[in-house]
Amino acid sequence: MPIKKPVATNKPLVTKKPTPQKADHLKIKESPKDQSGLPLSVVIRRRIEAQKARFHANDNISAFIKPGELEGLVDEVAEKMQAVLESLVIDTKNDHNTQNTSRRVAKMYLQEVFNGRYVVQPTLTKFPNVSRLNELMIIGPITVRSACSHHLCPIMGRIWIGVLPSKESALIGLSKYSRLTEWVMCRPQIQEEAVVELADMLEKKIRPVGVAVVMDADHFCMQWRGVKDRDSKMINSVMRGAFLKDSNLRREFLALIDRK
Ligand SMILES: [Zn+2]
Repeated sequence: MPIKKPVATNKPLVTKKPTPQKADHLKIKESPKDQSGLPLSVVIRRRIEAQKARFHANDNISAFIKPGELEGLVDEVAEKMQAVLESLVIDTKNDHNTQNTSRRVAKMYLQEVFNGRYVVQPTLTKFPNVSRLNELMIIGPITVRSACSHHLCPIMGRIWIGVLPSKESALIGLSKYSRLTEWVMCRPQIQEEAVVELADMLEKKIRPVGVAVVMDADHFCMQWRGVKDRDSKMINSVMRGAFLKDSNLRREFLALIDRK
């Protein structure tokens, strides 16, 4: 059996690649792989598929991600984003502006604008409705920052939430409406689906007599590209329970939100 002689180089002889298990793998450029060389995204995808769960752009997949893996995904996305920049024929070596763009974009996607896919739902402290409130409550406008699933272009807008609690409803703190909205919106979304998802969640959490959600937003995929229509907006509303049945309540809610 021929013995391979070590070749003299300036590098240390031991050049074993750090494995994802090592704590310092985050510093290396190469994205983490599991023992069999699979990228982290494939490992996570297999966990999801084993549970027959859905992983569309606007689904939350936090249940399938182990601690520390989000950082590993940043490395993987950065590596692939770098390939995109190369295919766009951008000289990232000599252009100081784009030298670190791949990592910046990867971090932006995973830790900021699409973070609602990867982190668990914010904890909501629920209060019993001690004063037995059963009057219309309106929360908003809540600022919405999202992106469309079709082009990953920003969607910037506002949301108003109307709640008609029952005497048995659990109430959540006002700030929690914003946190819940942010969690749902920080994913590639379709506005029509986003408002429905938010209304479903509020119904489940609060068990109100009625819930209403109105969203109005600028879609940058209409302004930056495509028809380049700068003034087009999209307005969606979801009315549930009492808001659907009682036209007076609906009118009152719509009159009280100031969409100007
Ligand atoms: Zn779009």
